[in-house]
Amino acid sequence: MTVPVTKNDEVVVDIVGLTHEGEGVGRADGFTLFIQGALPGERVRAKVLKVKKTYGYAKMLELVVASPDRVDAPCGIFKYCGGCQLQHLSYKGQLEWKRQHVVDNLERIGKLRVAGANGASGDGESAGDGRNEGQGIVVHPTIGMDEPWRYRNKASVPIGTAVDAPSVGFPSGKERLIGGFYAHGSHRIIDMEACLIQHSDNDDIIGMVKSIARELGVSAYNEETGRGLLRHVMVRVGFVTGEAMVVLITNGQKVPQVERWIERIREAFPSVKSIVQNVNTRKTNVIFGDETRVLWGSEVIYDGLDGIRFAISARSFYQVNPVQTVELYRKAVEYAGLTGSETVIDAYCGIGTISLFLARRAGRVYGVEIVPEAIEDAGRNAALNGIDNASFEAGAAEVVIPRWRKEGIVPDVIVVDPPRKGCDEALLETILAMKPERVVYVSCNPSTLARDLRVLTDGGYRTVEVQPVDMFPHTVHVECVVRIYREGH
Ligand code: SAH
Repeated sequence: MTVPVTKNDEVVVDIVGLTHEGEGVGRADGFTLFIQGALPGERVRAKVLKVKKTYGYAKMLELVVASPDRVDAPCGIFKYCGGCQLQHLSYKGQLEWKRQHVVDNLERIGKLRVAGANGASGDGESAGDGRNEGQGIVVHPTIGMDEPWRYRNKASVPIGTAVDAPSVGFPSGKERLIGGFYAHGSHRIIDMEACLIQHSDNDDIIGMVKSIARELGVSAYNEETGRGLLRHVMVRVGFVTGEAMVVLITNGQKVPQVERWIERIREAFPSVKSIVQNVNTRKTNVIFGDETRVLWGSEVIYDGLDGIRFAISARSFYQVNPVQTVELYRKAVEYAGLTGSETVIDAYCGIGTISLFLARRAGRVYGVEIVPEAIEDAGRNAALNGIDNASFEAGAAEVVIPRWRKEGIVPDVIVVDPPRKGCDEALLETILAMKPERVVYVSCNPSTLARDLRVLTDGGYRTVEVQPVDMFPHTVHVECVVRIYREGH
């Protein structure tokens, strides 16, 4: 095929879709161009930046026809910041796109049949008793938030320097400590005072930590030279308790004037219950190092989800949107179909959050997770809530669960909640061999979900319904809960 465009051409492009990274997919003379900031249904004038064999990239110059779903992004740094990708799309439009994105993945990658696909709206459909014989998979409308802002409980901010314009005494410009987010696809830090998807306490505490660092003359880490002390600041706040934790990630042991720092933070924010230092002296873009110590206060903060209390330490994985997490976990429990007597396995259990939701309705729950500290937290969290029918083991799900099988554990339900890369093949094989009546798949990545559902389908399971839940408004991320039955059940 001859490529109809060349670099620097100006073209008028119709936008027909959005990529999983939120770029508009355009067609110019049948040739695909990816254009950041353009929305489906729009026509834009764009300049071609880069041309490959079968696709290219272009930059939007002018909006010729706007989508009715286009809105002004409320955040002033939306254009530069890599944190959000969809603020220019109405919230309703985002929820619809997320559902469609799930449908597309199920069909294209999983080769699965979706009910009401090919133009039908798909909304309001229900699987009724969940059996849904031969109808194809029901993909429900995405569960959105009533107030899709300020939803995050955790902020993790890289620290660096900016150079001010040259001035008297500083002919090459004065260095200033900044902290914020990386610009789109780069490691350039954009200083940030407010992030509209963060709990406002996180914004305030980070602002304060940065200004104390400037005052005390703390140096910012430089990724290229590996010099400078402060690398990252992480803040987490419990939405139910209001308790906050501050973690300073440092390139070295010693924090100058640490007592003053602690005093200032405590004075300004009495809700801070824990100040922690994590030392990371390696030249890497992994945020945390191996050494974590409490500088002041408690090792954990507490939060609650649907009446269950959780202790959360600096290194624990804990879902970042607590309001939607409750929606997600309730759906997972509903899809598990528990009556009080079942044996349930919770694979990839983290600090045991889903396990404890399940334990309230099941006979016995076994959780497995690869991070040993998370498993310690899970045990503590069960005790904290007086839950005694859940037990936890540290290890890889694909290693531990086959062993449980040999030991004679027979689950009625297996719940999986893997990271983005999806389930290990050996785990899927073990699920097929253990033959639980029901599987509940909680997924943060529709493409690996679709791949794994194909394996389960070929092994005698049927995907009944999928509930997308919007855990990350204004970003391209989609979370799903899936109800899966063994054929004949
Ligand atoms: N269900 C939990 C955690 C989900 S995140 C919650 O909702 O909070 C996925 C988890 O899988 C992480 O905690 C990660 O540490 C863990 N993990 C990654 N690979 C794993 C493996 N091979 N076996 C078990 N757990 C794993």
